Amino acid sequence: MKQYTQSIEAFKEALKHIPGGVNSPVRSFKSVDGDPLFIANARGAKVFDIDGNEYIDYVGSWGPMILGHSHPDIIMAIQKTAAKGTSFGAPTLLETEMAIQIKKMVPSIDSIRMVNSGTEATMSALRLARGYTGRELVVKFEGCYHGHNDSFLIKAGSGALTLGMPNSPGVTSGTAKDTLIARYNDLDSVKDLFIRYPDQIAAVILEPVAGNMGVVIPDLEFLKGIRELCTRYETVLIFDEVMTGFRLSKGGAQQIFGITPDLTTFGKIIGGGLPVGAYGGKQEIMDKLAPKGPVYQAGTLSGNPLAMAAGLTALKILDETEGFYDTLEEKSARLGDGIQKCLDDLKFPGVLNRIGSMFTLFFTEDAKVSSYADACRCNTTNYARFFKMALDSGVYLAPSQFEAGFMSAAHTTKKIDKTIEATYEALKVLKN
Ligand SMILES: *Cc1c(COP(=O)(O)O)cnc(C)c1O
Repeated sequence: MKQYTQSIEAFKEALKHIPGGVNSPVRSFKSVDGDPLFIANARGAKVFDIDGNEYIDYVGSWGPMILGHSHPDIIMAIQKTAAKGTSFGAPTLLETEMAIQIKKMVPSIDSIRMVNSGTEATMSALRLARGYTGRELVVKFEGCYHGHNDSFLIKAGSGALTLGMPNSPGVTSGTAKDTLIARYNDLDSVKDLFIRYPDQIAAVILEPVAGNMGVVIPDLEFLKGIRELCTRYETVLIFDEVMTGFRLSKGGAQQIFGITPDLTTFGKIIGGGLPVGAYGGKQEIMDKLAPKGPVYQAGTLSGNPLAMAAGLTALKILDETEGFYDTLEEKSARLGDGIQKCLDDLKFPGVLNRIGSMFTLFFTEDAKVSSYADACRCNTTNYARFFKMALDSGVYLAPSQFEAGFMSAAHTTKKIDKTIEATYEALKVLKN
């Protein structure tokens, strides 16, 4: 058994000063009935806690760390940039360079605005869609998470789902009534809303691959159908690619499925580990933003030079490394196939959903997990037990059934095989 005494002490102290001891809820390990690890440092695929334990990391800071932790080029870029000053509140060349790089990788983007988090990106994209269409309603999907804006904290995924609070107190009934809920992979549920509100829906927002109820993969027909409905009803289609952008391919999920949204939101990888978000898309829509247009959105630290330097370095590596996403797919397939074999060999009931470097092992008796309702039927008690055994054998997974695991370029075959072994041993214990 690993010793976690320093982390336990640190958490006790943090609880006195920080709500729930953490600055983001799902970090608390509450749903797996434990105390969170306090991280001392991380390098490559490994994180080290303050007790000196080391882990193979599949949280990856919840998505950004596709190149592994402490990538030398990114650290160097941050240090070099910091030496010149950390914020000016005036334009820098890095911001234009970043915009050009994103446009090159994601062809649906004509113009892009940088913000400071994924939450800010989706909030601003929704306001822009409303300003552009002159309509008020937004359609979101059960179990999708778009950050913690009021409009999206209704049947929300991620920590809200993990901690059993998909509808948060503090969201006014006025806001809640402007958010319509549809079911993922259920095109009829979207059609019904358009039939009821044909000229009132400003935007449909979704994770083009859901990662915040665990990984749930869309049917191509579902995505195509939504695109057609949005075109027909002149509604802005927003792909929230905060998680999938630059992860599933250079051009994100939209490239893989061949669907072009009107607006796209980014975060996570785009900041190379610093706090960044962005939203962009069709020129005609983006032109409505201030100072060119009437829709207001601003930010003191938006386009911050350190964040731009880190993000731009990350994106360039992803763009310029020959076969980057093929190699990442090979590693991810090795892990995915390995876990699937554990399930098969042990005849353990479970579903592994994987697409590229995103995966979730669902503890369910069902044959597939393709919706929020399916995800909700999972045995979270078994997940918690599995999580703890994995942690004790040196594998750091998300402390929640309803999250994605992330592979990075820094995960070696050896680490992947060790992870599969740990998975096998933990499932064997659970089986008995
Ligand atoms: C993480 C995430 C967000 C929120 O981003 P933050 O930077 O945490 O505010 C929004 N949408 C999706 C799909 C995400 O995965």
